Amino acid sequence: MKQHRLAYCKEHYIEWVIDYTVKTIERYHLFSKEEKILVAVSGGKDSLALWDILWQAGYQADGLYIGLGIDDGIHYSDRSHELSLKFAEERGLLLHTVNIPERYDETIPQMAQRDRRGHGKPCSVCGLVKRHEMNRIAVEKGYPVLATGHNLDDEVAVLLGNTLSWSMDMLIRQAPLLPAENGFARKVKPLCRFTERETAAYTILKNIEYIFDECPYAVGSKSASFKQILNQLEEEMPGKKLKFYTDFLRMKKDGYLNDKNDEKPGYYHTCPICNQPTTIEGPCAFCRLVGKAI
Ligand code: SF4
Repeated sequence: MKQHRLAYCKEHYIEWVIDYTVKTIERYHLFSKEEKILVAVSGGKDSLALWDILWQAGYQADGLYIGLGIDDGIHYSDRSHELSLKFAEERGLLLHTVNIPERYDETIPQMAQRDRRGHGKPCSVCGLVKRHEMNRIAVEKGYPVLATGHNLDDEVAVLLGNTLSWSMDMLIRQAPLLPAENGFARKVKPLCRFTERETAAYTILKNIEYIFDECPYAVGSKSASFKQILNQLEEEMPGKKLKFYTDFLRMKKDGYLNDKNDEKPGYYHTCPICNQPTTIEGPCAFCRLVGKAI
């Protein structure tokens, strides 16, 4: 690992990953061992690695799997659910499951077909539905903390995208911890300082079975292009990704980005249908999408 100037054998690599995650949790004050954590699991390497690390490190972590109804010939959703269940059963851990087509009568691709915002591509609808459901389950089941498996590659791709478009609202909200406020559970990203390669190495060394295929809709996304560019940079300048991200967090801490719109009175409203927070008055974007607002 050139960016850390480290090289480990299998046993010490696993120890290092767990220690480094605990250091990230402590450094950014993400949560304590006394708090119940809900880990959003997709059956992929990052979320299963995160759940395994938290379990190994002695945190109280349960899982949440959201079935999206994505098939596309490879039974992506069925397979990822199967692997998440297998992981939980092998360790005696609790996995909550929400099946979107059963609960809302439509799969994510079907919702995307009637929604204009993604021009038929399901990712924006999928993001909206996942955010809504993760928060709903965390609040309903009493989890103060919602953890996701976003890694350094995900974070720097988002950071590059937001910087290129100078999306100040998004830059202000990008952080390893978003505090619980305005009806949202606390959101944390304990793997934000690991590259994708590092989390993949952890799952392989721990023999964790994960869904190898990416979601069929991930191909050709902007985020995939940003990741490719950033990987080229990393090849030439090892450590660039980590430095880009940690320098950004340091600048935020030093107050360079602190004009928080969402702290202004009247920024958040409560959706009259699902009671979740929303930035618009009246029914929230999720209730409009699933047709509850008609
Ligand atoms: Fe959802 Fe798009 Fe991710 Fe697939 S790639 S899981 S559709 S956000």
